[in-house]
Amino acid sequence: MKELRDWFQKNKREFPWREERTPYKVWVSEIMLQQTRASVVIPYFLRWLALFPDVRALAEASIETVIKAWEGLGYYSRARNLHAGAKEIVAKFQGEIPSSREDLESIRGLGPYTVGAILSFGFQQKAAAVDGNVTRVVARYFCIEEDVCKTDVKRKIQKRAEELLDLNEPWVSAEALIELGATLCTPKPRCEVCPLQKGCSAYQQNKAEALPIKKQEVKTLELIRSVAIIEVDGKILLRKGEAGKVMADLYEFPYFEMGKERWPQKKILETIQRELGLEVEFVEKLPEVKHTFTRYKAYLYPIRYQAKWLQDMKSYSWVPIEELARLPFSSGHRKILLFLEENKK
Ligand code: SF4
Repeated sequence: MKELRDWFQKNKREFPWREERTPYKVWVSEIMLQQTRASVVIPYFLRWLALFPDVRALAEASIETVIKAWEGLGYYSRARNLHAGAKEIVAKFQGEIPSSREDLESIRGLGPYTVGAILSFGFQQKAAAVDGNVTRVVARYFCIEEDVCKTDVKRKIQKRAEELLDLNEPWVSAEALIELGATLCTPKPRCEVCPLQKGCSAYQQNKAEALPIKKQEVKTLELIRSVAIIEVDGKILLRKGEAGKVMADLYEFPYFEMGKERWPQKKILETIQRELGLEVEFVEKLPEVKHTFTRYKAYLYPIRYQAKWLQDMKSYSWVPIEELARLPFSSGHRKILLFLEENKK
């Protein structure tokens, strides 16, 4: 589509991942850009490439280094999958990202969108990369009034998106669709300046804002947690998230789910004693921290305690205070740690 292509050439935003593209850079940037704004991704992307310039460097890095480089971006399974994917590429494809859809789909963490992006931007093949932005553009352009969360509708959107690609340099129109969805065909579309306006069915029928239809949207769940920062002999009690769980490989202070309401101090002390087997004394309350991850919104209520003595505990470790800064923390607990560091007494 000439109009779309011309618009993109004139309006595309400059990003470091759009310079000297390689399949590896496409892979890393597309994974980082899932669920994260481009402006936030830029410094992470640059730092990542400095630390892990290619697939082999990533595969050889320790998972702790990888998670630390990701710290703050959230959805850490993305970092773990990149790391595992790199190992797979070294083992199965001699460290070279494969250029066939079938091989790419066999790699851990590579879903249809990322595979499409790597084929299109990394290998310059004819493939659509259909993310939420492209889904919105396509559903509107073809006025698809069906639930885009359904598998058969997703397939339809994928096919329709491919129809919009040019025969000549299809990767340019594939990226232009993403850009259009990110900048003009947004939830509140700016149809008056859109290059696709003439052919857009939803615009013609005045239905743009009503599309796409998403019936299976996931609700956000609230978590109210009491967080215990327990100190003794210059050490703080921490737990590392278990493999396979949302916070795997990230460190957190011990915490307790309080249900719908905050607990009184007495109940927290009793819980610490019962759950951790520790005798502690209240020191001070710290400011509340809000933290959103996957489909949860967590409200953290941190309190400092002094333990009476240091004892070994299963699943927990006592970490010297000066070592805390180099460990990867979940973002909510990182905020608590930053507060502690800034208000050292
Ligand atoms: Fe989206 Fe409006 Fe453009 Fe249609 S005309 S593609 S609804 S911005």
